[in-house]
Amino acid sequence: MSTQVLDGLRALVTPSAVLTAPEDKASYLTDWRGREKGDALCVVLPSTTQEVSSIVWACAQQGVPVFPQGGNTSLCVGAIPSPGGSGVVVSLSRLSRIRAVDKADNSMIVEAGCILANIHAAADTIDRIFPLSLGAEGSCQIGGNISTNAGGTGVLRYGNTRDLVLGLEVVLPDGRIWNGLKTLRKDNTGYDLKNLFIGAEGTLGIVTAAALKIFPKPKDNAHAWIGVSDPGAGVSLLSLFQETFDTKITAFEMMSKSEVDIVLRHVPDTRLPLTQPQPWYIVVELSDVQSTANLTAQLETCLQLAAEKGLIADAVIAQSGAQAQSFWKIRHSVSEANKDHGIGITLDIGVPVSQVPGFIARANAAMQSTFPEAEIVIVCHLGDGNVHYIAMFDKRDLRDPAKRKRVQKDLERLVHDIAAEFGGTFSAEHGIGQKLKGELARYKSAVELDMFRALKAALDPAGLMNPGKLLPDS
Ligand SMILES: Cc1cc2nc3c(=O)[nH]c(=O)nc-3n(C[C@H](O)[C@H](O)[C@H](O)COP(=O)(O)OP(=O)(O)OC[C@H]3O[C@@H](n4cnc5c(N)ncnc54)[C@H](O)[C@@H]3O)c2cc1C
Repeated sequence: MSTQVLDGLRALVTPSAVLTAPEDKASYLTDWRGREKGDALCVVLPSTTQEVSSIVWACAQQGVPVFPQGGNTSLCVGAIPSPGGSGVVVSLSRLSRIRAVDKADNSMIVEAGCILANIHAAADTIDRIFPLSLGAEGSCQIGGNISTNAGGTGVLRYGNTRDLVLGLEVVLPDGRIWNGLKTLRKDNTGYDLKNLFIGAEGTLGIVTAAALKIFPKPKDNAHAWIGVSDPGAGVSLLSLFQETFDTKITAFEMMSKSEVDIVLRHVPDTRLPLTQPQPWYIVVELSDVQSTANLTAQLETCLQLAAEKGLIADAVIAQSGAQAQSFWKIRHSVSEANKDHGIGITLDIGVPVSQVPGFIARANAAMQSTFPEAEIVIVCHLGDGNVHYIAMFDKRDLRDPAKRKRVQKDLERLVHDIAAEFGGTFSAEHGIGQKLKGELARYKSAVELDMFRALKAALDPAGLMNPGKLLPDS
């Protein structure tokens, strides 16, 4: 059977695009944190939508599971196949063409394997931006961003990935191609099919191309690194900024001192922007399409007002692009630094913005009594109420994978229940993957789970598209 499948695939794509040697497959079978491994008969690297379609059709004919993969930066073990698998990983990395860029329509059409940073560069050539921004942007792909409905640092101003997609091209689980690559701003013609595939984590089909929204490039911007005493001050400061700047706020990110200390210790060429450490830090970015907006002066005035109100302890405004970059380097390095530092169990909590301080206080108290050995490090997309709540353990304490999984389950239950009490969610932006299927079963209602299963059965009745992800085992 496996020889038949491999021969069939080699006839559909150039033979060198079918990887079977263990050393060639290895990086596609291990998750980003290097903690989980899966297996597959082969990894296939198609370079056209038609090739994706033929591969999926051939697999469907033989009952072979298909695992779509982008940049493999999923933080919830979404992109690797299950262990002992006899399926096929379909890597989209060779579908990396920018098909069209249109300034008048403020749109671009890109293939799923385009690296996010390359999309930024393409938009820049016509004085536009594609505003999705996250730490993995140098390696994650737009198909993966769409399939996880990624958030990142620009959500406050521009929305989640879902808000940035105008249309999609998708290969369905039976191999048919749906061409929904419209760049329309309005299209009220029935069910909005594209939204089914956004955030579906590859369980309903393979995204092969997308029509994206782009925006005029800001001509003025200003950045500040701010020290505050506690999350409550952070929320009050956000309110003041929103009253003053509204949509000119393009990022409002908060980090605990413990998180910033880890970055400063592990990431070369980073240093604390303030002269004295503070318990919490906020990176704020303002931008405006008017080059004469004079945002730096406005930012200074707002920070003075914030100081008079007792909301901030200290602040520095970036005096150059390089200094602004140095603020962002700290913020964007947290995942890499945490990986070096210890074993971090990361929870991706979302609560209403006003509830962030209460949630953090309750979770910290519960962690202190149940897991006193864990160091809590926190990084928040504060403007979205998204708290990355990370319990950091010494690598020696959780060396045993079985123990790590046990601790992870108990810790998730503890903190996710607290998030639920605050009207929150256990996965604000990372998705479900393999990691959180059990939590989905716990927190979604029976009605929601029925609708999830009905959609899956309608589009993928044989259950061959990214099995073992998102949907709870029945
Ligand atoms: C350093 C770092 C920082 C991060 N920061 C953020 C952040 O700020 N905000 C945030 O939301 N996320 C963040 N993430 C996680 C985020 O989900 C991913 O970075 C990104 O969106 C996934 O893209 P990818 O191409 O790597 O997808 P993969 O990891 O390869 O895949 C993710 C899921 O999508 C599916 N998939 C991939 N491509 C396709 C396709 N073409 N068609 C159908 N299904 C597909 C996979 O099967 C899998 O289920 C971060 C990750 C890292 C490592």
